[in-house]
Amino acid sequence: MDFYGHVIDGEEVESLDGARFDTVDPFTRAPWAQIALGGKADADRAVAAARKAFDEGPWPRMGFAERGRILHKLADLIEQHADELALADTRDMGKPITQSRGNDVPRAAHNFRFFADHARLSTGEVLPMDTGHHAYTRFEAAGVVAAIAPWNFPLMLETWKVAPALAWGNTVVLKPAEDTPVSATILARLALEAGMPPGVFNVVHGYGPDSVGQALTEDGRVDRITFTGESGTGRVIARAASANLTPVSLELGGKGANVVFADADLENAVDWSIRAIFTNAGQVCLAGSRIYVQRAVYDEFLSRFVDAAERMVIGDPREPGTQIGPLASEEHYRKVRGYVETIESEGGKLRTGGLGNGWVVRPTVIVEMPPDARHCREEIFGPVVVVMPFDTEAEAVDLVNDTPYGLNAMLFTENVHRAHRVSAALKAGTVWVNCFFVRDLRAPFGGVGDSGIGREGGNFSREFFTEPKAVVMQITEEER
Ligand code: NAD
Repeated sequence: MDFYGHVIDGEEVESLDGARFDTVDPFTRAPWAQIALGGKADADRAVAAARKAFDEGPWPRMGFAERGRILHKLADLIEQHADELALADTRDMGKPITQSRGNDVPRAAHNFRFFADHARLSTGEVLPMDTGHHAYTRFEAAGVVAAIAPWNFPLMLETWKVAPALAWGNTVVLKPAEDTPVSATILARLALEAGMPPGVFNVVHGYGPDSVGQALTEDGRVDRITFTGESGTGRVIARAASANLTPVSLELGGKGANVVFADADLENAVDWSIRAIFTNAGQVCLAGSRIYVQRAVYDEFLSRFVDAAERMVIGDPREPGTQIGPLASEEHYRKVRGYVETIESEGGKLRTGGLGNGWVVRPTVIVEMPPDARHCREEIFGPVVVVMPFDTEAEAVDLVNDTPYGLNAMLFTENVHRAHRVSAALKAGTVWVNCFFVRDLRAPFGGVGDSGIGREGGNFSREFFTEPKAVVMQITEEER
């Protein structure tokens, strides 16, 4: 099996104690690569390297154009190694190769190009003051950034954090999820090949609690913590960060809802609703795991939706025709299986789907589930959706908002007034109208309530990864 190490201070290294772990391919259910298993001492070493590269190294002192040149080179290298990177994520977590190769890897390259250009072209504010003073803002790199990532979109979400942090002149320690470590090591190797100085971008593998993750969040030398993962973990990290008053950005769980009004283009609504819940086998924070359909079109929507769900191709994620692969790990499969096995005891009916072979859950559609059941309220993070009828617009808004989460919602309607009205009424960080998953990287991304704290994207990433500074100057009237 190939070995993937930590990348610290420009070197790919073993853990200090030599420990390793196997990463498992959830389709074959067998180990496929060996990874350095880090602990607190390895995290400490990586933070020290990042701190030194920030305090003494050239990276924060380079111009935006020079840093941008290296980040663009890295984007090019990501594209040149797209097959290797895509296969790494597919083998680590069972994501269909068409998604890793067609979406995640191109998006990773785009993240570096976008944030390099965004930082280079960004302007500050100049504030002429009535008092004869003049103020302006500077955006200065914050320092050392700890980035802690989940396993569902490994490379894509890691680069969503790493790219803006680096573009603004910070140095980074990335801890990928333990289930999906491989692409992060490949990325760090490519960053060195692109010319990034040692210590600027470090990767440390290992677990969260009592290990690498916890050490990063408790380290006073870290200036920013950017985390994506479960809401419960987010709470633990926020508590740890508060001891050093380290600013945190938390992108957490969701319980996304689709609202299909009777006037919607039904074919479009079915198409997006299928993608919203079954992409990546539903292991998406934005998954549309609740679908509310206006009663007049409920039966028709449900029959078309079930039909489309039953046509999805389940199989080996490395095959280009596969749409649904296994869930990412045995532990996660057991969690999702628990929801599938309790559909009837919670008062609902299984309309189609259920358990498949190995760690596969088939596209699963639940109907007649009481709104207070766990399946309607908790993040299942699998290909499991509840479909329910509603009557009025106000009722739909109440149903969508009746959750502690608030990451995203989708509306399907041809009525422009309703589209604006309902978008404004929903408690969510993003509302998609007649579409899903379409992103502009300048837009704010984040959640309300248990879905997180803060926003990232464009200027929102700039605010988080820099220390905005006000400089106020007196302009003297008399000539000197
Ligand atoms: P997780 O919270 O279990 O783990 C995420 C990362 O945190 C991993 O790297 C893990 O090792 C680390 N970690 C765990 N405990 C830690 C601790 N005490 N201190 C420091 N680090 C710790 O999440 P997951 O299961 O990997 O990911 C799935 C979750 O992520 C879902 O809830 C999903 O909705 C969420 N998610 C959110 C977004 C978003 O943008 N809002 C995007 C993707 C995934």
